[in-house]
Amino acid sequence: MSTLTSGTTLPFDDDHFHEECAVFGVWGAEGAAGLTALGLHALQHRGQEACGIVAFDSGHFNVHRALGLVGDVFGKGSADSDSNSPIARLTGRAAIGHTRYATSGRTMIRNIQPLWTDLDESGGFALAHNGNLTNARQIKQELRAEGRRFQSTTDTEVILDLVARSNERQLVKRLVSAMKRIVGAYSLVALSKKKLIAARDPAGVRPLVLGRLEEAWVVSSETCGLDIIGADFVRDVKPGEMIVIDENGMESHFPLAEEPSHFCIFEYVYFSRPDSKVNGKDVYSIRRNIGRELAREEVVSADMVVPVPDSGTPSALGYAEVLDIPFELAITRNHYVGRSFIEPDQQHRDLAVLRKLNANRGLLRGKRVVLVDDSIVRGTTSKRIVEMVRDAGATEVHLRIASPPTISPCFYGVDTPSRSELIYNQFESLDQVRNAIKVDSLAYLSIDGLYRAVGEARRSMDAGYCDACFSGDYAIPLLDENDKGVEADQGSLFHEGQR
Ligand code: AMP
Repeated sequence: MSTLTSGTTLPFDDDHFHEECAVFGVWGAEGAAGLTALGLHALQHRGQEACGIVAFDSGHFNVHRALGLVGDVFGKGSADSDSNSPIARLTGRAAIGHTRYATSGRTMIRNIQPLWTDLDESGGFALAHNGNLTNARQIKQELRAEGRRFQSTTDTEVILDLVARSNERQLVKRLVSAMKRIVGAYSLVALSKKKLIAARDPAGVRPLVLGRLEEAWVVSSETCGLDIIGADFVRDVKPGEMIVIDENGMESHFPLAEEPSHFCIFEYVYFSRPDSKVNGKDVYSIRRNIGRELAREEVVSADMVVPVPDSGTPSALGYAEVLDIPFELAITRNHYVGRSFIEPDQQHRDLAVLRKLNANRGLLRGKRVVLVDDSIVRGTTSKRIVEMVRDAGATEVHLRIASPPTISPCFYGVDTPSRSELIYNQFESLDQVRNAIKVDSLAYLSIDGLYRAVGEARRSMDAGYCDACFSGDYAIPLLDENDKGVEADQGSLFHEGQR
């Protein structure tokens, strides 16, 4: 069974890879697909465009993939509660799933994951991927030259193809041979008729955790996916590790040469859910620390600290605590709208902010306000919110950003606009950015402050993080980008200047 709903399809030549997502898998539990739907529901913040589940039951793979939110596509995650739910047909004790992140407002149904293929000896093989490969285009060109045609524009299909074409006979060795060819960020969950495999790239850029639900094994992008099904957190899948689960239990392998770790620091700033623990650390505590650091770096006198919901909230709490300024929830978020960030054009993005957020006039009138938000990218959200807070009667609006300026695109799996669209790159000085956003004062967290918040003394490339979006230092080679003649270290120039 493969059921796809309708949607807009881009031409075949759209060759952009956009794979910012969540992965989830269950091995050895009755109703594995229902548990996977629940896990994906908890991971919905990592991707709202589309989702899919592949389940395996006595010799058969069943799949359902569709556009839309997990709850809309899979119901409440239980076949009993809704017999029309695809979950009723996704039977078996093993399943993997994926939620996909919209990047441009346009959608390709063929890109919805998990992807799957038939391998001669091993039978069906399904794959779900979070991250972004940096040499997928190169590999695709080589494979195309050999006559291969691709169905999707995802880099995940490149991995699937390398597995299918490997000369190895055993599935695990086939996947290892694919991992030896690919470069970049990948947290993978794969399912064959005999095994569930989880793997993380050698730098460990994207999160991936392992859990247990009684005798069953669970793999999830974040721990919030374990919590929702009552699974216990066992540990992070380690960078470069491949975990193989089958009827004999769980085995851990490290098939690739060891490399320095570079966990995405932006996962802590924005991407992961605050109730998750990823890469060994509690996201909420780090966000609160960020707020404390921000307060220590620059003092402002104001009547209230107001978070931009939801991602600015823990940092705003830490900020208000250190400066001893009252904390007020003076902006309310409407939870029935999607993300403003991914709207296709500026007019839609502007409107989306108004649909999502509203300022509380009674609280703000006549007050000097410090707004705390997690990051500024294009500046759309900040400009609209500042306007909204002023219209609501605030006499002063100060903006504090719980991360350093975003100056460089991410090539490892977080959607970022081009360098020139980033507001910080459009001006010569911080004061000009402040003027554009129309705030009385503007301060970003320093990059050392961000490292202090995650428990380091200061920024260093040895600390185990990727901060390319804030520094322009790309630790993992950008092979496809370099092919196109883009200077990978261009961002460093901005960083050195620290305007
Ligand atoms: P902007 O309006 O373009 O400045 O976007 C900034 C806001 O979008 C931030 O306050 C975040 O809440 C959110 N955001 C930042 N980075 C991303 C991303 N890569 N994907 C989705 N949302 C993001």
